[in-house]
Amino acid sequence: MMNFYMPVQVFAGKNAVKDHMPDLLKSFRGPVLLVTGASSAKKSGALDDVLAVLSEQNIKAVIYDGIRENPLLSSCMEAGRMAHDAGCDLIIGIGGGSPMDAAKSIAVYAAYPGLTEEEFYAKKWTAPLPVFEVGTTSGTGSEVTTVSVVTDSTGRKHSMSDSRLYPKASFGDPRYTMTLPLSVTLSTGADVIAHCMESFFNKKANEFSRAAAARGIRLLIEPLKKAENGEPLTLEDRSALYEASILGGLAICVTGTAFPHNVGYFLTERHGVPHGIACAVFLPRLMEHIRRNFPETADALYDAAGISEEDLKTLILGTLPALDFRLTEEEIEAELPRWENNRTVMSTLGGYTLDEIRVMLKEL
Ligand SMILES: [Zn+2]
Repeated sequence: MMNFYMPVQVFAGKNAVKDHMPDLLKSFRGPVLLVTGASSAKKSGALDDVLAVLSEQNIKAVIYDGIRENPLLSSCMEAGRMAHDAGCDLIIGIGGGSPMDAAKSIAVYAAYPGLTEEEFYAKKWTAPLPVFEVGTTSGTGSEVTTVSVVTDSTGRKHSMSDSRLYPKASFGDPRYTMTLPLSVTLSTGADVIAHCMESFFNKKANEFSRAAAARGIRLLIEPLKKAENGEPLTLEDRSALYEASILGGLAICVTGTAFPHNVGYFLTERHGVPHGIACAVFLPRLMEHIRRNFPETADALYDAAGISEEDLKTLILGTLPALDFRLTEEEIEAELPRWENNRTVMSTLGGYTLDEIRVMLKEL
């Protein structure tokens, strides 16, 4: 069986915004809500490119720059109402995973400004506004997924996924990622490896998703090694990392993620660990689990990606900074119930038990 649906028009390459966005804007009159974080949209040059294209088309832009790392649902509500009141007919997310994920939830609130939090998660909505995404990091793959991860009013990260949240089009220009600090290059690279591995070692994986996942890892090996060694990355390296992030996104489109992502949310919520790192710390555990129970699948990935299991583990460990906290036993026990019968955890090949998660967290 190979089910697959991915309706996003993707433009990845130099000048993607200037060359391809004008055509796609023809079916919109504006105003357009631009969703950004505090600085990366500006610093990368992406915001200026989008503003230039909009002004050429005589389309008015309204800017919401209140999205922060691990975006809040309350910010999405606020931005959605802003778009609704301004009569916007399109949302454009510009930045890394946070603004791009937020743009999808904002598109829901722009169409249904009165929606409560419960109604939002219960999907009491049908047609969100259309979304374009402009990526400025190479990690999340949000450009090609239905996923919007936002933090609810209790402080918990929720991964909302729905085919109505597919962006209409995505634009990625590797030049935007040239200004990324080393720490972000490493943590977003770790996120890509996590997407690819969790997808490959997933019950829902098929021929297409496995090919994309393995190719994603193959593409990022050399540039990520360079980054770990502190060598400067060329535009070619940045292009490879960006394409790897898109391939990782395509892979999780089919499968979703597995236990490292779901358990990783907790490290981000409680200890502020950057998303990619919070997931990648658990990848060595995933590798052991697969080696023990599905050795042929393990070999299939490492062969297709062109890297040995040991070398891939070394590459992953090289992206991880030292974590400056220890989890207490009480903290772990209090959190464990959230992973009981959790769909993402269970979609790991062979499943993953609460006991295994307990041991993994204790030994972190
Ligand atoms: Zn991720």
